[in-house]
Amino acid sequence: MAHAYRYSIIIPMYNEEAVIEETYRRLKKVMGSTGESYELLFVNDGSVDRSAQMIRDYARWDESVKLIDFARNFGHQIAITAGMDYAVGDAVVIIDADLQDPPELILDMIAKWKEGYEVVYARRTRRSGETRFKKWSASLFYRVLRASTDTDIPVDTGDFRLIDRKVCDEMKRLPEKNRFVRGLVSWVGFRQTAIEYERDERLAGETKYPLKRMLKLSLDGITSFSYKPLKLAGYVGAILSVGGFIYMLTVIVSAIFTDSTIKGWPSIVSIMLMFNGFILIMLGILGEYVGRIYDETKARPLYIVRDVVQAEGQQAQSRLTARVAHHD
Ligand code: UDP
Ligand code: MG
Repeated sequence: MAHAYRYSIIIPMYNEEAVIEETYRRLKKVMGSTGESYELLFVNDGSVDRSAQMIRDYARWDESVKLIDFARNFGHQIAITAGMDYAVGDAVVIIDADLQDPPELILDMIAKWKEGYEVVYARRTRRSGETRFKKWSASLFYRVLRASTDTDIPVDTGDFRLIDRKVCDEMKRLPEKNRFVRGLVSWVGFRQTAIEYERDERLAGETKYPLKRMLKLSLDGITSFSYKPLKLAGYVGAILSVGGFIYMLTVIVSAIFTDSTIKGWPSIVSIMLMFNGFILIMLGILGEYVGRIYDETKARPLYIVRDVVQAEGQQAQSRLTARVAHHD
């Protein structure tokens, strides 16, 4: 490692040739004004346009420009993850390439970071230039996510944020594949704070998040932070069983005391109600186990340490350094 930079800016890009020049110019201006060292880490997520070539050109005469060029499109969240793996700065900023996240805000994030916050995320107070459907679905998603998880994932925030080196190193220890980065950043903890902004319109080009990808991201978010959906069978089973049992009693009573039922019908109905309830409850129990198995397979570390004071024997710490060293 030749340089240690003060700041690393991660810019994932997928077919962004229409905006990349302006993004580069704005970022240079903002980062130049800090008077500190920085690297602009572009991650080319399998673009088929000139995006990567443009970055290569800038890199020729600007040594702050770095490029991680993916062999194909792996998706936005993976691109960010790769950026974190390669970033060397004391603070790492993640920003979209399309200038929907104003680069000028990075200065505010840096100010908060210098106050001692380890994660500074940007919360959107308003989004302009996006369809009603996108705003509505995004807002719905953040609220469903919030209601279904125990991790405190802030609503209306994307991946635009600054994270401290410590947080970045912890992120590298999370091995899971279906990554929902903003949730993971919340999960690791540390001192977090928000700044607010109005989300601009995309400068040019069109969204790389069609409905299908949005759904995938939402499902990643919900399933990797909650197994409430799995437990649903158990809840539904319990409710149906109670209802079914009561109905079964009325069926039996009317079969014995009246002649309003057809012969054979009460027994069939009773068996059906009983077994359907059983099956759903069993599914719920299975869900509880599957959920726990899922937790284990995610293999997240059990805890995250901010600092160790005067303690020595630390296995986890050496595991961490082993992984980090790998990227130097
Ligand atoms: N992006 C990426 N890989 C993808 C899709 C998107 O690296 O597969 C990048 C994209 O270039 C942009 C950021 O992720 O910098 C956010 O994507 P986009 O602006 O299309 O999403 P939206 O703002 O519409 O939600
Ligand atoms: Mg965008």
